Order: sequence, then structure tokens, then C-alpha cells
Amino acid sequence: MTAAIDVTDLRKQYGNVQALDGLSLTVPEGSFFGLLGPNGAGKTTFINILVGLVRKTGGDAQVFGYDVETDYREARDAIGLAPQEFNVDRFFPIKEVLEHKAGYHGIPTAEARERADDVLKRVGIYEKRDTRFDWLSGGMKRRFMLARALITEPDLLILDEPTAGVDVQLRRDLWKLITELNDNGTTILLTTHYIEEAERLCDEVAILDSGRVVDVASPEELMDRGADKITIQFRE
Ligand code: ATP
Repeated sequence: MTAAIDVTDLRKQYGNVQALDGLSLTVPEGSFFGLLGPNGAGKTTFINILVGLVRKTGGDAQVFGYDVETDYREARDAIGLAPQEFNVDRFFPIKEVLEHKAGYHGIPTAEARERADDVLKRVGIYEKRDTRFDWLSGGMKRRFMLARALITEPDLLILDEPTAGVDVQLRRDLWKLITELNDNGTTILLTTHYIEEAERLCDEVAILDSGRVVDVASPEELMDRGADKITIQFRE
């Protein structure tokens, strides 16, 4: 089976900073995969290389067998990303933002409209469809970022700390939604600082530190190996 993500000896240098230092990782298709690591471990850099926002300095990175640089379009079309930062067009009604994104990915107008309605309903902000992004509450902005990631019906959904700083209700809603997506075959890559979250959701977890994978295991195995110490470190 083709891996959803297959990365070998990935390197990224920003000036003097070695953000990724020989990262190797395979994320099986259909899995719910967690990426844990302290601040600065390289999680966001890794994700940004997968989606073509950052150029690697060395190594190989493939998404469903497509090289993220030479087969950029195919690799990018397979990925839905809900990033940590809100990098959204703030001045248009959110429904239009979704339709534009769908159009950019070659989805015909009528279908784009249907998909936009559908994803806004799924994330629970359909009634806000004519509101611009800036006017949404913080929680609604999070929901919208997920809707935007889902508009292209991606085979791989990447969520960069989706539950950081959100209230209990939203966290539960997000967990339910992404679990359902995974049950229906979508591969999920989730970065988090909370091992409890990884334990609840993920089949497998990789621990990143200083730009490398230092451990890959089930969340239960990590807990048994004393990953609660890591959790304490992450919570600070
Ligand atoms: P966090 O959990 O805080 O989001 P992270 O694991 O996502 O951290 P990255 O954001 O990938 O880590 O950062 C990895 C390293 O690369 C850090 O030392 C960071 O300061 C550095 N870095 C990231 N982006 C840049 C940039 N554009 N220019 C210079 N250094 C950068």
C-alpha cells in the first residue's frame, strides 16, 4: 500500500537554525497519526514542506507517492491543511472564500457551492455563511479553518494544533468530526502538545525533538515508557 506520507532524511535549515535534522517518518494510509513535540521541534516546518510553503534543504518527501516538489500539484491536491495561524482572506463572506478555494482546485462552480454549504453545516457554522472571517468568534474561526481544509475532500487532513486554546465543547466537536472522517478513510495527521489528546484519538504517535523523530509508538506504549514526563514538559 502507498503511504500517505513517506519522508526520508528530511532537512531544513533557516540561517543557522537546523529546524529539521534528518527527519524520517512513514504515515500509513488511513491512519490517525499524531505528531508530538516541544515548541520548536520542527512540526510546523515539516507540515509546511509537505504543502509546499517551505522548500526543504535536503532529503525526500512524498505524499501518496507524489514528490512534494516535483509533483507539487498532485501532492497538494491530496492534502487539506488546517494551519495554526489564521491565514484567510478576511474581507469576503466565508462561503465565498470556500467557493474560491474550490474553484482554485478545479471544482466546477455549482459543485463548489454545494460543497461549501455542506462543509459549513458539518462544522456547525452554516448560519454564518454570509459573515466575513474577521467577524467570527475565535471558536468559529477554528471551525472555519477545518471547513476550508475539507472543501477539497482531501485524502490527507493535516491539523496543526487544532484544539490549542479552544473550549471544551469545540474540542469535543472537533474530535468527533475528525474521528468520523478517519472512520470514512481520511488519513489524519494531527500535531498536539497534549498526550491525552493523542491517546484518545491516534493509532500511532511520533515524537519529534530538535528536528528528528525520536520515537514512534502507539500512545499506550508511549505512556508505558514514561511519556507522562514528556507531557509535563509539553505543558509548560
Ligand atoms: P511549535 O510547537 O512552537 O509550533 P514547532 O515544532 O512547530 O513549534 P517550528 O515552528 O517548525 O517548530 O520551528 C522549528 C525551528 O525552526 C525553531 O527553532 C524555529 O525558531 C525555527 N524557524 C521556524 N520558522 C523559521 C523561519 N521562517 N526563519 C527562521 N527560523 C525559523
